[in-house]
Amino acid sequence: MFFRDDRFIPSSNEDKNVVKEWDQLPQKSISYRLPKVLKPVHYNVKILPILTTEGVNNATLYSAPGEVEIYVQCLEPVNNITLHSRVQNIYENLTQIIDLSTGEIVEIIKQDYDEIREFYIISLEHLLVSARKYLVKITFDSEVSLTRQDGLYRSHYVDVEHNTTKFLAVTQFAELNARAAFVCFDEPEFLATFNVTIGRHVSFSSVSNSPMISSQPIVGMDSWYWDTFAATVPMPTYLVAFIVSDYGSIESDLSQYEKSVRILAPKSNIQNGYANYSVNLAPLLLKTYEQLFQLDYAMEKMDLAAIYDFQHGAMEHYGLNTYLPENLLYHPMSDTEKSRFQLSQVVSHELAHQYFGNLVVPEWFTGFWLKEGFATYFSFVGMNYTTPEFEPLDLIGTNTIQAAMEIDVAGNSHPLQFTDKGNPHETADYNSVVLYLKGASMVRMMEGFLGWNVLLEGLQDSHSSVHQDNLFDTLTEYANSLDILPENYTVKMIMDKWTLESGFPIILVNGSSPSSNSSDVTISQVYYNGSSSSEWVVPLRILQEDVNSTQHLWLVPPNALTFQYNPNNWILLNSEATGYYRVVYDEQLSFHLLRQLESSHERIPTGSRSQLFDDYLTLAFNTDFVELEAALAFTKYLAKETKYSVWIPVLKHMNTYMKYFIGLLNLDALQVYWYPRVEAVITFIGIQQGNAEAGLSVIFRADLLDFACMLDMKFCVQYANQLFAEWSENPSQNNIPLDLRTLVYCTALRNGTSQIFDFAYKQFQDESDEKLKSQILNGLICSESLSDLARLLNEVIITPISDRNQAVSILATLASKPSGREALIHFIDENSDTMIDFFNGPLTIAAIVYEMSTYYCTVEQLNSFQAFLTRHSDIFMDPEVSWVVDLALETVRMNIQWVETYGQRMLTWFLNNSNM
Ligand SMILES: [Zn+2]
Repeated sequence: MFFRDDRFIPSSNEDKNVVKEWDQLPQKSISYRLPKVLKPVHYNVKILPILTTEGVNNATLYSAPGEVEIYVQCLEPVNNITLHSRVQNIYENLTQIIDLSTGEIVEIIKQDYDEIREFYIISLEHLLVSARKYLVKITFDSEVSLTRQDGLYRSHYVDVEHNTTKFLAVTQFAELNARAAFVCFDEPEFLATFNVTIGRHVSFSSVSNSPMISSQPIVGMDSWYWDTFAATVPMPTYLVAFIVSDYGSIESDLSQYEKSVRILAPKSNIQNGYANYSVNLAPLLLKTYEQLFQLDYAMEKMDLAAIYDFQHGAMEHYGLNTYLPENLLYHPMSDTEKSRFQLSQVVSHELAHQYFGNLVVPEWFTGFWLKEGFATYFSFVGMNYTTPEFEPLDLIGTNTIQAAMEIDVAGNSHPLQFTDKGNPHETADYNSVVLYLKGASMVRMMEGFLGWNVLLEGLQDSHSSVHQDNLFDTLTEYANSLDILPENYTVKMIMDKWTLESGFPIILVNGSSPSSNSSDVTISQVYYNGSSSSEWVVPLRILQEDVNSTQHLWLVPPNALTFQYNPNNWILLNSEATGYYRVVYDEQLSFHLLRQLESSHERIPTGSRSQLFDDYLTLAFNTDFVELEAALAFTKYLAKETKYSVWIPVLKHMNTYMKYFIGLLNLDALQVYWYPRVEAVITFIGIQQGNAEAGLSVIFRADLLDFACMLDMKFCVQYANQLFAEWSENPSQNNIPLDLRTLVYCTALRNGTSQIFDFAYKQFQDESDEKLKSQILNGLICSESLSDLARLLNEVIITPISDRNQAVSILATLASKPSGREALIHFIDENSDTMIDFFNGPLTIAAIVYEMSTYYCTVEQLNSFQAFLTRHSDIFMDPEVSWVVDLALETVRMNIQWVETYGQRMLTWFLNNSNM
């Protein structure tokens, strides 16, 4: 699965209450697990989703009648069969159990439903006999849900050519929703083979996990067919999938990879070339993984389908992946390199799941980090072979470890391995980003201390259904043969603390004082919140200035680690940044690192330079570990830094604080300091994008120019204005590189006249491509003219030019700009009723107001913000939203505090260092 990264509204207090209530319930008083007395071996699933009533007698539109035959093996004598079911209705009189060794029918005495556990229990007159096989036949009614986006549900797309809305039926069974479509043993460890048969009208076609083997007319239903699909390999129910649609498809070149790979999407998408990129990428990835893991992809074919109504970013169903369109469809005329990177990563992730997740399945939901962590990690490895222009291996640290540590300190983080709370619906947020990012970080760290070969061999030895303990045991065996682990430790003993608890340690490195005679360095750990009760077993990769090779050492609690070093040299602890922790050096050691960065920065590995910035720029605020000035000092050498992965944490942190400087403190001081550094690197990359240039350098340039133009650096503003002027002279020929368009529009509009706004607005109206249109809109938002912005808001809300989601994103962007906030306040003052109507209630307005609050940071701003909230107390006192408003006020108070504590210090530092 891949998470959907568009959560805008702050997480609700109500969610937390739900968790609280659940916590108060007696835990594990009943078992939610199915008894392990029967083992499903094979399913025949037959479902008839009614997407049209043409040719149908007496069936309701969007009903989905079905039958399931389950071949089960009896492991222990038992007098009932317990299955999962959330279908509408079971025809009890048709339920049948047959003893396959005798052919006799097993007598049923009653059938019960346990709605809390979603069990369907068939009680039998006699005990089933161990080792015998039985056939369970159940006939039921399920539905194509119009209200949910899981189980079997309806999705839609707009047929542009005919300007109509088309519907399709699609499934999403992860994590607990196969039971909504058919009765089954719906737990991940019950692996079975599946033969799926789907009924559909002639105007549709169907796909499932395996290739279709027959299509037969349905007796009594004119123009309807039963499509039967080949048996799958053994797999859990949550990986079963089927789609009934009128989609088109494009197939891969079979001479490049022998198994069929198809992209499924609305026909116009296929005809206009939106599937061409993925249809080349996907087979290349499958081939890469086959070579990497020395194992053939297990299914006969792979289909990748675009689904417009989807609660996740993508899902790895065996042989039939589903994707949000933006993660599968790409066009070089409208998509940026940044979006091509995201798409490539998601496809790479889902195809890695064909090994981690589908072939090796976590035995229970609590261990889903295993599949998400491995798939996320290997998506970078897969991309390194298929899309090396993005230099993906350089981005593992920034995109997994740094991103994970940022969220793994918050109060709402959670351990990777979920605690089993009994009810699997309540056990975990399966969509949690922590699973992906920290999961991948753990794989990265294990690879760091075990080595690539041990990790790969351990994985290849894993059984089809796995608990993290099994995997750790296997890895221990390999590691012991190579003497990698600390004495008397297993991989489990090392990894349990990292995976069963949230957070991470901070490693402190202290040399001896220059006045003493000693030359010992001491390495110790503290918990990230400052408490000293930190007991992680920490793998260290140590690099020293006068030593050529990397040393591998362990920091084993409760002791600190001490060894001799040369006090005149630097020492680096987390070489290549494979460890999931932060490192802080004492003043003398920091000075030596700084000296090395300024004289020859490449001596420090790229990953470590990047991690050093992330560690120091994070810990400089709201902790006592690092002085702000010491963290900023590392940025001095950046004019020579040409690696994007090092600039990522720098830009991330600077952009976060930029809002306090814009219009409040002194932007000039930042501009003067950063100008020579950014300009030097832009000159190195080249300000102009080459004709055939692709990949990371395009993204790097765009991010740097974004920063430069935001700081009003002259070279950047001039370049943006020049590109915009060329376009306005010849509107039919837009040569602005796609990755720079929003930035160029925004810069030109911010400094521009009403004529420029009018020109851009006309282009916006004339543009038919939604993505290109949205880029112009994001530029229009940057105008600083309140009357132009008022006009824009009227167009967006009063006469909707965009759908609600797009409107939300426009308002959120407006909230990030000083003039935008002013325009929004005026607009809400005059049109609050219209907005509440447009957004179906006050929650969206409250979320926008919250977004605005993140930018206010003076007492005056707090006062006028409070006055605004009071003017609209009718909206903001509503209990549905009052908690968001409270959060917003708290945020402004924290911002004021931040400016008082750090703002002035930062400003002073930049002023004092701007001539260096
Ligand atoms: Zn996944």
